[in-house]
Formats: sequence, C-alpha cells, structure tokens
Amino acid sequence: MAGEPQADCLFCKIVAGAVPATVVRETETTLAFRDINPQAPTHVLVIPKAHHPSAAELAAQAPELAADVLREVGEVAAQEKADSYRLVFNTGAAAGQTVFHAHAHVLAGRGLEWPPG
Ligand code: 5GP
Repeated sequence: MAGEPQADCLFCKIVAGAVPATVVRETETTLAFRDINPQAPTHVLVIPKAHHPSAAELAAQAPELAADVLREVGEVAAQEKADSYRLVFNTGAAAGQTVFHAHAHVLAGRGLEWPPG
C-alpha cells in the first residue's frame, strides 16, 4: 500500500533507525540527512518518512507530504546558510535514481554548472 514501509528499502531503514545517518533536520513527516557520497560541500537528502518510490508518485499519492518535503528543503538551505542551491529529484533509473524512495538532493557550497551531466 502507498506510504507503507518497505523491508528492502534503504531509506525506510534510515527512517526506522536500522541504518545510521547524519540527520540534520527531522519533522513528524520528513527526515533530512547528509548524503554518504557528497557531490558538493552541502549535500543533504530530504525524504518523506512514508515510502513513495519516486517524486512523481509522491506528488500523485500524497501531495501534502510532497509540500512538506519542499518546505523542508527551504529549511535545510537556511540552516546550511545556502543562499543559492540546486534541488534535484532524480526520477527513474535512466535519470540517475538509484534509491527508489522519493528524495530531494539539496546541493550547495560550490559553483554548479548548467546543464547538468
Ligand atoms: P539517487 O541516485 O537515487 O538520486 O540518490 C541516492 C543517493 O543516496 C546517492 O546520492 C547516494 O550517495 C545516497 N546514499 C546511498 N546509500 C546511502 C546511505 O547508506 N546513506 C546515506 N546517507 N546516503 C546514501
């Protein structure tokens, strides 16, 4: 069922505390933690605690939760003192998604090229 924890999902395990993570912010519905392989001085992942496989499915299945994630992106950027940042939702394997639990990448602290690779 949409939103239920998945036993084989890495980010559900982080939410449950079964896999450690460096948490920077937490709300009732969201968790923000540092990426294990940072691509910028600030690289934080913001996730809904509930399991939705992608940003597209999150937006379709739980739009208020999608809004919570976006609100938290702004809070993370402020906490990291990032005036400029890049917000990325890789959606689908061909676009680089490797963990199929919706997550926003918040990248900041260096110049960022456009278009991305
Ligand atoms: P995606 O490629 O799905 O857009 O992003 C998944 C992100 O999760 C990658 O940037 C990857 O470095 C990060 N990641 C993978 N495994 C772990 C982990 O165990 N802990 C943390 N904090 N990040 C992880």
